[in-house]
Amino acid sequence: METVVIALGGNAVLQPGQRGTFEEQLANVATTARAIRLVLEDGYRVVVTHGNGPQVGNIMLQNEEARGVVPPFPLDACGAESQGLLGYMLVRSLISELRTHGLERAVVALMTMTVVSPEDPAFQNPTKPIGPFYSQARAMELIVQRGYEMREDSGRGWRRVVPSPDPLEIVEAATIRRLVEEGVVVVASGGGGIPVVRTSDGGIAGVEAVIDKDLAAHRLAEVVDADVLLILTDVEAAALNYGTPAQKDLVGRIPYGEMLRYQREGHFRAGSMGPKVEAALRFVGSCRGRKARRAVIASLYRAREALRGEAGTCIVGDEV
Ligand code: ADP
Ligand code: MG
Repeated sequence: METVVIALGGNAVLQPGQRGTFEEQLANVATTARAIRLVLEDGYRVVVTHGNGPQVGNIMLQNEEARGVVPPFPLDACGAESQGLLGYMLVRSLISELRTHGLERAVVALMTMTVVSPEDPAFQNPTKPIGPFYSQARAMELIVQRGYEMREDSGRGWRRVVPSPDPLEIVEAATIRRLVEEGVVVVASGGGGIPVVRTSDGGIAGVEAVIDKDLAAHRLAEVVDADVLLILTDVEAAALNYGTPAQKDLVGRIPYGEMLRYQREGHFRAGSMGPKVEAALRFVGSCRGRKARRAVIASLYRAREALRGEAGTCIVGDEV
């Protein structure tokens, strides 16, 4: 039985233009649960991970608006809140979806921490805009009062920027592996995992950072020794010359070396398709001939077809 790690994009929970009510998010998650159920019916072991951008942004906005009443929490704690919320929605939907279709599988969401290096160069160069937009005056206050790094975000206002360090290790790795081996459908590493560092006394401390969910999905795929990393998003495939008249969707099997060349030519934008392709290449490139691995980038609505090789971009090892 093959193991697939499914990485869900933002559209799995919130569609562009929606306000983000709980009911809206639950309705979207129900559609996502259906996609996951179809994959389970095709006989895969499934591990699920997901982004948390809009949800953690909303939690930060709630913190900010209510700061005179309830003390604001640090970013790792906001990440934990969003992970719990999304895990709850996904597991609740999946349990209903599987029960309705007569599939007997245990489903669980695990609070997951991702270890990063305190020496990661990202800490010297925060790049990831997060949370609400502020006026310039408020931004200056936040810089002084809380030591935030703030940047003007393309004419829309000031925003906090935080480091996005490379995920190194998943704290709960051994437990995730055990659950997956037992056939449990595990939701883990939500929002890239709660960012932590190991301390010199052997403990763990939270850090103010966000971890890219696609790169974290690659780590998760290594942990469970997955056969497939399936990255589901809001486009049909990775494309060359994206957004230009010369756009060409990469549909079907693309050898590792060819995809690496396109990546080096700069076809995949930082912050969106870039990390998906990077995660895919890391995953396919690290199997060292032990077994054939593939990474697939496809639309959320074509998960089953993508795994059957009928949709999306499928990156395969050169020798396959
Ligand atoms: P997700 O929430 O699924 O991570 P992102 O917005 O981060 O979604 O990434 C998907 C987006 O990447 C697409 O909607 C598209 O606008 C953008 N994109 C950038 N470069 C490319 C490319 N070369 N091919 C396809 N999509 C691309
Ligand atoms: Mg993204």
